[in-house]
Amino acid sequence: MAKISVGVIGATGMVGQNYIRLLENHPWFEVTYVAASARSAGKSYQEAVDGRWLMEAEIPQSIRNLPVADANITETAVGKCKFIFSAVEIDKESVRKLEEEYANRGLPVVSNNSAHRHTSDVPMLIPEINPGHIEVIPSQQKRLGDQGGFIVVKPNCSLQSYMTPVYALIQAGYPVSEMIITTMQAVSGAGYPGPASLDLIDNVVPFIGGEEEKSEVEPLKILGSIENNEIKAINDIRISAHCNRVPVTDGHVACTSLKFRDKKPGMDEILAIWRHFKSVPQELDLPFAPKRPIIVREENNRPQPRKDRNDEKAMAVSVGRLRSCNVFDIRFVGLSHNTVRGAAGGGILNAELLKAKGFLS
Ligand code: NAP
Repeated sequence: MAKISVGVIGATGMVGQNYIRLLENHPWFEVTYVAASARSAGKSYQEAVDGRWLMEAEIPQSIRNLPVADANITETAVGKCKFIFSAVEIDKESVRKLEEEYANRGLPVVSNNSAHRHTSDVPMLIPEINPGHIEVIPSQQKRLGDQGGFIVVKPNCSLQSYMTPVYALIQAGYPVSEMIITTMQAVSGAGYPGPASLDLIDNVVPFIGGEEEKSEVEPLKILGSIENNEIKAINDIRISAHCNRVPVTDGHVACTSLKFRDKKPGMDEILAIWRHFKSVPQELDLPFAPKRPIIVREENNRPQPRKDRNDEKAMAVSVGRLRSCNVFDIRFVGLSHNTVRGAAGGGILNAELLKAKGFLS
């Protein structure tokens, strides 16, 4: 089977580099186009990331000499790839326009940026939770003028650490009414170079701009449903989030307390629900789907970023420390790899779902 050619815009950044690394030898997709800011444009990929290649593996041979284009000149991508992974870091209004411009040129966009997360006909996907939201794409395409392109987005990286375990309980018949989430988020989540080392070593920073709002609002759209060609967010879960930056390289931890709407599952039942949870990516056997989307850790001091973030090729959510809560009903700790499951790996899984459902070819 011929591979589908793909472009990565923002290819030189933290998330972009992870796309380049993870897509090497992908069975369905092949990177044929890379773009970044005007500062990198005109250089070879290797020159553009000189001194700031952050991955452990070497730059893939097939990518080193690819010329880096200016991501803002969208016409350059036409004819060089069939769809785009977007990992640019620019102001939201510019990203919103830029991604629509790619879509209007017939190039579907799978984005990591937050600009389109609340556009009502743009699916914000965690493929284990809301794969059905891709059904809204044809009406989005109509709005965009039917040029063949469209946009799907990923939610904020920290949501990955708790949304799948919470969804598994909701799906098993235990709706949730209230959640309090305290995240401890890795430095790589801030992109490169991120916070100055002197601000972070021996320290915790109890503020990440915009992050608490994202944690409180994005789950409501993810759990929503399609009505009149739009995704309608739910409004019956109250969420309160505290987001902290901690001196960990990769892996976001989320301490989560939940209150159930009516009946409450027993602890053993919750563990069984998490252990047996599987969804559409597993049924479709998508290449990046973790075999076990939720991994239950029995030890009382797990999950830990260093020990657990790479499980299932860094695509699983690890949970542990399940216990009853003195204020709500239960509490637990969740962990996921922010630049893989929470960023590039999650984007690739979104694209695999789109291909399996006939939206990419
Ligand atoms: P980053 O390391 O700062 O990389 C930013 C990328 O955007 C670079 O390729 C950069 O190119 C490019 N860029 C900057 N200004 C540009 C411009 N004016 N025009 C075109 N391209 C421009 O950021 P990141 O952490 O990879 O994040 C990328 C996106 O993913 C952001 O929207 C972020 O919110 C989102 N995200 C990040 C994570 C994470 O864990 N890091 C997780 C989920 C989502 P140059 O190298 O040429 O400057």
